[in-house]
Amino acid sequence: MSCLFCRIIAGEVPGTFLYQDDRLVVLQDVNPQAPLHALVIPRRHIATLNDLGPEDDGLVGEMVRRAAIVAREQGVAESGFRAVLNCNREAGQTVFHIHLHLIGGRPMAWPPG
Ligand code: 5GP
Ligand code: ZN
Repeated sequence: MSCLFCRIIAGEVPGTFLYQDDRLVVLQDVNPQAPLHALVIPRRHIATLNDLGPEDDGLVGEMVRRAAIVAREQGVAESGFRAVLNCNREAGQTVFHIHLHLIGGRPMAWPPG
């Protein structure tokens, strides 16, 4: 298995999980860009947003709603947080297994760089 996130989910590579269920996990980012930086990752390998099908609509909804729940648990729901999905090279995607960045705990600029 060559995918880093599949290997972390399988327990072959260590990771710190904030949440796990049968469909997705929430992993602390190893290189946090803010006081809260977690990754909401489906267990099933999907390389990019371009590979989503209509059957994945529920899964993507769960990812977004889980991000909001973790944001509340981590105390940033009211102050604010970002939920970011990068798709392919120019957007900065480096791990080709879809993941939602949950970022919060500091003010953020717009537009992003
Ligand atoms: P992308 O650039 O693909 O949108 O995001 C990949 C994210 O995965 C980056 O924020 C990066 O810090 C994180 N990351 C890369 N390698 C590891 C790792 O081994 N463990 C964890 N927990 N996060 C990682
Ligand atoms: Zn994978």
